[in-house]
Amino acid sequence: MSDIRVRIAPSPTGPLHLGTARTALFNFLFARHTGGTFIFRLEDTDQARSTEAYELDIINGLHWLGIRWDEGPGVAGGTEHGTYGPYRQMQRLERYTEAATRLLAEDKAYYCYCTPEELDAERKRQEAAHESPRYSGHCARLTASERVAFEAAGRLPVVRFRIPPNRTIAFDDIIRGHVEIETSALGGDLVIVRSDGTPLYHFTVAVDDAAMAISHVIRGEDHLSNTPKHILLFEALGSAIPQFAHLPLILNADRSKMSKRKSQTAVAAYRAEGFIPEAFVNYLALLGWSTGTEEEVLSSAELIERFELSAVNSSGAVFSRDRLEWLNGQWIRRLSATDLIDRLRPFVQAELDAGRIDWLPADDELRALLPVVQERLPTLAAVGELIGFLFVDNLDPDVAALVPKRWDAATTAAALTAARQTIAEVGRVAWEADEIEPPLRQLVEDRGWKAGDLFMAIRVAVTGRTATPPLFDMMVALGYERTLARLDRAIEKLAAQAGPTP
Ligand code: GLU
Repeated sequence: MSDIRVRIAPSPTGPLHLGTARTALFNFLFARHTGGTFIFRLEDTDQARSTEAYELDIINGLHWLGIRWDEGPGVAGGTEHGTYGPYRQMQRLERYTEAATRLLAEDKAYYCYCTPEELDAERKRQEAAHESPRYSGHCARLTASERVAFEAAGRLPVVRFRIPPNRTIAFDDIIRGHVEIETSALGGDLVIVRSDGTPLYHFTVAVDDAAMAISHVIRGEDHLSNTPKHILLFEALGSAIPQFAHLPLILNADRSKMSKRKSQTAVAAYRAEGFIPEAFVNYLALLGWSTGTEEEVLSSAELIERFELSAVNSSGAVFSRDRLEWLNGQWIRRLSATDLIDRLRPFVQAELDAGRIDWLPADDELRALLPVVQERLPTLAAVGELIGFLFVDNLDPDVAALVPKRWDAATTAAALTAARQTIAEVGRVAWEADEIEPPLRQLVEDRGWKAGDLFMAIRVAVTGRTATPPLFDMMVALGYERTLARLDRAIEKLAAQAGPTP
């Protein structure tokens, strides 16, 4: 067993974000590739915002993606496994208290009695003087009697960790290379424990990473500026400093940071749209990493085999919905018929629940459609858009959509009437796509029409849409009687629109 130990440490303060899923995946791939251990730890100290529902969403989302951990909570609120637990920070509070007590005893931290109002006034002064905000160090050297006086006045202290004023913290990031950050840019001595005794993120993350023997911290680039604080804390705690790998940010197409305000970031929303986990994992892996070849469609096993942390790009990874849909389509095509039907079921059911279809097709009906449907599905949810018209009792096609550009309502009604007759004749003998098409093409030629015009009018009449899988296959799926009935209905509507024939 390698001593590589990595972790994902989400806060259950929101649904699983695709950035968190990508970070989890890269940690998982790295651990599996190197034979290391992957740990899941919940950073749930923000009690006001943490919920069990979010915890469940995060765990379920990662499980859906096939991301499994070797140590950590099983299901939300449930039992955990691993020898470095507990894996929920709220159950580790005495460890933080113990570490804080140690730092205080060694004078690496001190009690600070400044009130929020005083700190606020300090910040405003700094802002007015165009200085960057930092703690002045007011309480850094209090005497025992000054402390007693503050306590007597009822002030509750926070614990601040001493940040050395003039040091350069340097580290070699596996992705970003050599990084140097001046301690003067860190905002002064850092609050590690609030006045109510609860510990803060920078502190808990360092205490836990040390206690859990984390060897590599792989996380988003937004944490890069936090790393010097963590390094100083590791030093102060006498712990080994892990290696760092900061993953590039995920960006919108305009290169702005992808945030939940501007974009769809919840993994569950993609799942609800019918992205399949094989594709989603594949896509996330390519957000910032590539094999260095043209190959894009990779299974989890292939990703594990090929993944190299050092090959992750340092520049931002632009999220492309088109590419995700393309990959999803590729993965949908690879599914067996039975598997695809199983996965489509809930989406077909949703069409029924939403009143967009009138009945549920049988498995055999769906199976018969797969040859033309499977390669056209960008997502599972697109099934309604693609073939929902087959499972409705009545269509009410829009006259404007029925009439091709070069025709008017009367011409279209006449053309559809002729086409109906042709279809009725062939259909009586053989109701097959190959049999329906040639006589219709003959009709087009005899009348000097454009095939596109007639076929579009037929398409809208029988499907209600301007874009569908191959028209004649759809007519066959719809059935002889229903096709004719829909043509009749369209002809009727057109005739009404055209008025009495002169
Ligand atoms: N709770 C932090 C986050 O989700 C963890 C950051 C870290 O990996 O250190 O951003």
